[in-house]
Amino acid sequence: MQDEFFFTCPYCWQTISMVFDQNYPMQDYVEDCEVCCRPISIDFEPAADNLEEPKVSIKRLDD
Ligand SMILES: [Zn+2]
Repeated sequence: MQDEFFFTCPYCWQTISMVFDQNYPMQDYVEDCEVCCRPISIDFEPAADNLEEPKVSIKRLDD
């Protein structure tokens, strides 16, 4: 199952979206923001069941 999630870029504060595959337990990405092109570290943890929201943690790489 793939779902699109929306989050705020930690650099330019624009809302951007990304598609995650919820079949994989823990995911760790570095994606360039589609607006400002700076790299964002994204940790994605799928929900244990359909009643919960997945956890998405967003970090700047230059912190
Ligand atoms: Zn950005």
